[in-house]
Amino acid sequence: MEKMSKGDTLAMRNKYIGKSCQLFFRQDPLKVVRALGQYMYDEKDEAYLDCVNNVAHVGHCHPKVVEAGCRQMKLLYTNNRYLHDNIVICAKRLVETMPKGLNTCFFVNSGSEANDLAIRLAQIYTKNKDIIALEGAYHGHLTSLIDISHYKFSLPGGTGQKDHVHLASLPDIYRGKFNTTEHKEEEISHLYAEEVREICHNVRNEKDAGICAFIHESLVSCGGQIMLPRNYLSEIYEHVRNNGGVCIADEVQVGFGRTGKHWWAFELQNVVPDIVTLGKPMGNGHPVAAVITTKAIAECFENTGVEYFNTYGGNPVSCAIANAVMDVIEDEKLMENACVVGDYLKKRCMMLKSKYSIIGDVRGVGLFIGIEIVEDKESRKPNPEAATIIHRWMKEHHILLSVDGLDKNVIKIKPPMIFTEENADEVVSTLDKVLAGLEGSNDLTKDNRYYQSGYCKMNK
Ligand code: PMP
Repeated sequence: MEKMSKGDTLAMRNKYIGKSCQLFFRQDPLKVVRALGQYMYDEKDEAYLDCVNNVAHVGHCHPKVVEAGCRQMKLLYTNNRYLHDNIVICAKRLVETMPKGLNTCFFVNSGSEANDLAIRLAQIYTKNKDIIALEGAYHGHLTSLIDISHYKFSLPGGTGQKDHVHLASLPDIYRGKFNTTEHKEEEISHLYAEEVREICHNVRNEKDAGICAFIHESLVSCGGQIMLPRNYLSEIYEHVRNNGGVCIADEVQVGFGRTGKHWWAFELQNVVPDIVTLGKPMGNGHPVAAVITTKAIAECFENTGVEYFNTYGGNPVSCAIANAVMDVIEDEKLMENACVVGDYLKKRCMMLKSKYSIIGDVRGVGLFIGIEIVEDKESRKPNPEAATIIHRWMKEHHILLSVDGLDKNVIKIKPPMIFTEENADEVVSTLDKVLAGLEGSNDLTKDNRYYQSGYCKMNK
């Protein structure tokens, strides 16, 4: 099945691909040749349980999605300047999942394109420029989005914070600026929201301008699987709108039912954004994404007289695939599954938390779970070294997780929505073994001892 040896693939990659495109597990990168459901297979056809790929939303290579794409590819591909059923059906279905008022769609090819268009719409509608984003947030790789993504622009070699960008503290109730060691949970939302009110106030005073937009993920993924505190968005939306701005919900990672309770994660906060951006899971791996907004915002864009044309956005193949993804979510009751399996997994992770001192927090909803690795429960000090080791050791046991957050100490679990309780059991029992292997030692040379002892191999 393999065309080249793993060594040759790596050598060619090093030769021809830009080094800033990084590999997972740089010490021993994984070569994958096929995938099915919640499993990916390496060049030796060994299976890895995929606990992080929220793009393969309804499962890798879902036959109905693959079939829908193939069928349409054989029939017709063209751009959306011709009338075609797939795009209008897709738009209608998306609008039907949204709260009233969010009724106009634009189709694009990636989460980044969606967010870039969202900002363009916001600028045209509000005639303002200043954008408020969250500390730790990532919204995409285009220049306009690196500018608002603290996750990237704040890196040592990053481009730094631009004048039109304002950061609101990450509303992390566990270890953020306002947290449960000093405040009651009910107060915390208000304290974080006040920061946004102040930003709006300062922009008014200093620039004599209003706000263009507040952009947020509805559950903060790269920032460390953060659940927004209750009522946080409703208070902020009010401040932003009072200051001329619109509210953009980036559902690129967390949309399409991942929370199990709703199609869209912003619904957990009982708010209605002005613009919603969708991506990743929408095409189950095929590049299709969308922006959904109100008639009023879309009309303002139209009134500029500048046509919006996107060569691939909303083509019949992409829309056939997106429609098949929505069919599968409904037919296979994947939101219900996310609820049941997510609750089960979270409960079992909570049990690990009571067993191991380095698990400070377990949080999340549906199949979106974060495990915060700390030095000890009292200090809540982040322990990125341990998180990195856990990540690597889990891979040795053929379980793929990722690590993220402001301090790179949060283990992220966001598997395909077909994840089962048996998969959850496997993750937790393996994590249990790995944590037992780490316990009682702050000595990171233990990482090497673990490898040398063959413990990883023995327990596979
Ligand atoms: N928004 C969020 C929240 C994301 O996580 C990402 C990608 N990780 C993007 C936008 C950008 O999506 P894409 O990589 O498809 O352009």
